[in-house]
Formats: sequence, structure tokens, C-alpha cells
Amino acid sequence: MQEESPIHMNKDRKLIIAGNWKMNKTVAEALDLVNGLKRELAPIKEVDLVVCPPFTALSEVSKVILDSNLRLGAQNMSEHNFGAFTGEIAAAMLKEFSVRFVILGHSERRQYQKESDELIARKALAAHAAALKPIVCIGETLAERESGRTEKVLETQVRGSLAGLSTAQMEETILAYEPVWAIGTGKTATTEQAQSAHAFIRKVLATIFNETVAKRVRIQYGGSVKAANARELMSQPDVDGALVGGASLELRSFSDIVKNSI
Ligand code: PEP
Repeated sequence: MQEESPIHMNKDRKLIIAGNWKMNKTVAEALDLVNGLKRELAPIKEVDLVVCPPFTALSEVSKVILDSNLRLGAQNMSEHNFGAFTGEIAAAMLKEFSVRFVILGHSERRQYQKESDELIARKALAAHAAALKPIVCIGETLAERESGRTEKVLETQVRGSLAGLSTAQMEETILAYEPVWAIGTGKTATTEQAQSAHAFIRKVLATIFNETVAKRVRIQYGGSVKAANARELMSQPDVDGALVGGASLELRSFSDIVKNSI
């Protein structure tokens, strides 16, 4: 039985809040943070909690969270299983450290590594083949929003980045709606903008897969989430959690986001 909290009585989906630490934290710093989170968030049962440290800290962090309610995520992985791909990490290598989730297609990777929807879809299939749950990121840029293309862009990303997934795989996939203009900028989407994008994404999922899948898939919001706006965002009917960047790097701010979300 999933625990329910008062502001989520109308949702069947359990909230999932993930911290994307990006290229931050040495092993010592990662251990410091995760030991604090483990202590602080131990009573939380209503939310699935995920930390996504850099690859170099996965091993040590995995040992600390073994007996906790924290789950481990990676920030990226290769579409390939092994071979001559210098600098890449395969799903099986992540599994060695009990990684359960993997962020795919973050806007920074789409921008700096030129990751395409097609590549992200292949990675999502590779993640599922290894029983890792992908957190697939989508979101429009400011120029796209301002020119009225938000829904078109989201639909293209949803169709492209999830191409080839079965309905069962889709149900085990998490989507993160992250408007690019809200990431690391301090600008958060209004609750109306977030809700409207999430509802639209769910409508597209119903068209591609079916209504049941669309109802079951968890869609996180990401983009300057803080303790002060978490509750309002999480209380939107189609917002099922958060992917948190900057505010996940400190014990207080991440813990407060989680506590304010339930
Ligand atoms: C992110 O990078 O996924 C993110 C949402 O960052 P921030 O919370 O810092 O905007």
C-alpha cells in the first residue's frame, strides 16, 4: 500500500523526488551530504527519494544508503552494453552499485552533447533491458515558449524520446518536464504553466500508449524547485514529484523540499 499524504489524496501516483547533483561533490562531500539526508529523511514514506551523484561517488554512496529509504540514480549512461566507447558507462556497470534510476536526455546533455530524441530513446530501451528505470527529461526553451511552440516541442520530444518502448516499459519510465528557461535560473514555471504542460504530456502519452499508461506514468517537474515553491507545485493534479538541481546540493534545502511536498 502506498502511503498517502493530505495534499495528494486525489492522486494514485506516488511522488518521486530526485536530486541531480550534476558535476558536483567529491566522494567525501557526497558522503557528507548523503549521510545527512539518510538521517533527516528517514521517516519519509510518502515519497520515493532518489539521489543522483556523479559516477565517481556511486560506489561509496551506494554503501551508505543500503539500509535507507534513499535510492540511487545515475545522471547518464551509454546506449551500448560494452565495447570501444571511451569515456562511456554501461548499464551493467551502474547495476554493480545498485543503481535503480538513470536520468536520460537532460537538457544540458541535449545542449552540450547534442543528444537527440532518437539517441535518448535507444538509451531508454537499454536502461529497461538492464532493469533500470529511466527518468527521461523533456522541456522547451524560452524562444520556443515565447513563439507559442511549447506543446509542439513537447509532443516531438515525448514521441521521439520514448519511441519503441512497450506499454509495460513506459509505466516503469519517469518523465521530467523541465522547461529549459527555468533550469538553474531561479525562474520557476508558474503552477499553471507546470500543470498545463504536465496535463498535455499525459494527453500525448494516452495517444501513443493508452489511457491507463497515461494515468500511471509519473511526471516530475524540474526547474528552480525550492522549499518555498515545492508544496504548490506538488499539489497540482498532474505533477508527481520533482527533479531538483541546485537545491539538491545542500542538506537543508533538499530535505525541506521533500518535507514541504507531503
Ligand atoms: C536540473 O538540472 O534538472 C534542474 C532542475 O536544476 P535546478 O533545480 O537547479 O533548476
